[in-house]
Amino acid sequence: MRINVDGMLRTLVFGKMGTVTHGPVEKKPLHHFLPGALACNFGTAGCNLNCRFCHNWHLSQRKPEELDRYEVLTPKDAVERAKGRHASVVSFTYNEPTTFYEFMLRTAELARESGIKVNVNTNALMQEVPLRTLMKPKDSATVDLKAFDETFYRNVCEGSLAPVLKNISTMMEMDVWVEIVNLVIPGLNDHLDMIRDMCRWICSNAGPDTPMHFNRFVPAYRLTNIQPTPVRTLERARQVAVDEGLNYVYIGNVPGHVNNSTFCGHCGERIIHRVHFSIRAVNMKDGRCGACDHPIAGVWDGKWLP
Ligand code: SF4
Repeated sequence: MRINVDGMLRTLVFGKMGTVTHGPVEKKPLHHFLPGALACNFGTAGCNLNCRFCHNWHLSQRKPEELDRYEVLTPKDAVERAKGRHASVVSFTYNEPTTFYEFMLRTAELARESGIKVNVNTNALMQEVPLRTLMKPKDSATVDLKAFDETFYRNVCEGSLAPVLKNISTMMEMDVWVEIVNLVIPGLNDHLDMIRDMCRWICSNAGPDTPMHFNRFVPAYRLTNIQPTPVRTLERARQVAVDEGLNYVYIGNVPGHVNNSTFCGHCGERIIHRVHFSIRAVNMKDGRCGACDHPIAGVWDGKWLP
């Protein structure tokens, strides 16, 4: 994504967006951040990992010159595009946005000035200084925590787990709204003991109100030989997370599953009824459960409830 020009690394993807879309924030997934809000999404070529299961490999594993098509946008154009769509959120997603950091940083700054919220959909492999420069309190991050195992990160993603955990802690400390996604792949990262260790870590370091999404794997890229995750496996993972104390645990990529919805962490009442990414009913008032008045952690109508 970068070339060396006289000893200076320069980006090749500033504003060269391989995909610009819009859709509900639930698709990120974000389930505790402005429910039903529209996000304007930006992504392009490149990644700092090479996950064998990547669903967006046609972007992430390509060089900028290999994009089939792209749009050239300035950060101002990007924010205007979001405004034109009446989007409340700009999201940097599809490929790893660290690879188009310069464009993301400037666009995020302009978006905040316009009252538009920021979402970064990331593998959280970034140095601390650029992370702290980029993220601001009340931004949101959807973090892919791919496994709780360095060997998995090394062998399946060509990455490392330790910096991901450090960056999740840093974002929590910065009051960034974090939701964690774990794609459960049969035979590779579905061991319940490992899932238990991961949930324990999240509970202790990010807090029990951190939303956790167990997403169903479907064959893609270099893992076309593995079957989709059985729903029962996702439900077992969810039960482990609940047993470890996490209050908001979702099952994703299974449209219509009861755990697409949000249930109050105190009384258990369904407070946001979702079918896949679509909201059917909300039983909340001012960020509180409509049944028992318990405050639900999240960013609701712009209000932040820790
Ligand atoms: S980090 Fe995300 S975009 Fe990059 S290869 Fe992995 S799954 Fe694909």
